[in-house]
Amino acid sequence: MTLDLPVTTDEILTTDVHLVQSWADLNALKQNGARTAIVAAEGSYVTDSEGNKLIDGIGGLWCVNVGHKRAEIIDAVTDQLNTLDFYSTFYSFTHPAAAALAEKLAQLAPGNLNKVHFGNSGSVANETAVRVLHHYYKRLGRPKKRMVLSRHGAYHGSTHLAIAMTTPGYSEGWHKAEGVVHHLAKPHFWREGDGMTEPEFLDSLMADMKASIESIGAENIACFIGEPIMGAGGVIVPPAGYHRRAAELCARYDIKVISDEVVTSFGRLGHFFASRDLFDFQPDIITTAKGLTSGYQPLSATIFADEVHEVISAPGAMFTHGMTYSGHPAAAAAGLANIALMERDDLPGQVQTTGKLFENTLRGLADLDIVGEVRGSHFMMGIELVKDKATKAMFDPDLNIGMRVAQAAQKRGLVARPLGNILILSPVLILTPAQIAEVGGILRDSIAEVMDDLA
Ligand code: PLP
Repeated sequence: MTLDLPVTTDEILTTDVHLVQSWADLNALKQNGARTAIVAAEGSYVTDSEGNKLIDGIGGLWCVNVGHKRAEIIDAVTDQLNTLDFYSTFYSFTHPAAAALAEKLAQLAPGNLNKVHFGNSGSVANETAVRVLHHYYKRLGRPKKRMVLSRHGAYHGSTHLAIAMTTPGYSEGWHKAEGVVHHLAKPHFWREGDGMTEPEFLDSLMADMKASIESIGAENIACFIGEPIMGAGGVIVPPAGYHRRAAELCARYDIKVISDEVVTSFGRLGHFFASRDLFDFQPDIITTAKGLTSGYQPLSATIFADEVHEVISAPGAMFTHGMTYSGHPAAAAAGLANIALMERDDLPGQVQTTGKLFENTLRGLADLDIVGEVRGSHFMMGIELVKDKATKAMFDPDLNIGMRVAQAAQKRGLVARPLGNILILSPVLILTPAQIAEVGGILRDSIAEVMDDLA
């Protein structure tokens, strides 16, 4: 069936008044309409409704890892829909694609992470992780172990519990799950580590974590959740050794560790999973989404340790959790084809070279007057723009500096994501060296243009 979709920019924007965007200024949308309509995509590029071809510098939303319009994934999804469009994994039903993808994830995930529950978003994967652990401790006769340690600056999603685990500021004006989450300090050395060396800063973070555990009481804490690199909090790479030490501390207090790899997995940092391969720690649960299907289908996974599964599958337990579309056949097929493509082309291995080139190209922008810090790793980068480099003083938010640079970049053919005064780059992982150089050039010219405006 050919769909009768709006085509011109005017038609799209007129139709769009019924759509409620996510994480958006709804009043601005009511006044001005949507900023950009993306109508097509291929490889490293997206096309807007005006016919402009733009480098996808944000990979959809940190997710289109293998690039757009890959026939291998589209064919696998189509074949799956032609064979089995839908059946659930409720009760004792299963189907080949969900079973095969769970097996594949168990092979790829580090250590004893061999059990997989599927959801359809990162938020749901994180909610599932915490619910599973609540159930686990209840089954062990320790129902008081329910608190979650998270961090200022974290982003774990926007459902009721996930937003409570996210950095507190975003919950203003909303209700959130109260009394379940404690936020530890943000591990951002450049902003928070004044007067300390990086190892001293790390020691202070660990002391804060230990003090928090002791004041809350380990008998009340189920888990610690952390992104290996904070994404939406501004691309924060913690000090070297942070995750390993945090995991050791948690193990000492019998607190489970959830590694939120919704962004950092499936090649973005040069590995299928970053927890063990890049950050040298073994979590009890990994959550993932986004790059799991490269965004071709909505799918998330909560991958948990055998030991957790042993407890929740003991006689008398009933797993009263799951979503209709958990392990949807088309989504599972997209995941399998996506992983097969990554393995065939050794995409994670390639990213160890091209991602480093991308990282170093962006680090080269640090000489610009308003670039305070360029941070991140491989294809997960953030550029913090500051009013005064020496004092790290921030721009007045009303100046909309991040948005102005993003608009200047879009004019030059690149989609970048503004987040306050931070510019986020999380492109498709198939950028060529020439495209990486182009991105660097566009960002340099765009930042320079905004600097000229400010002068
Ligand atoms: N966790 C992290 C680290 C994320 O970056 C995101 C989304 O950006 C989420 C969880 C939530 O994922 P979703 O938007 O699919 O619910």
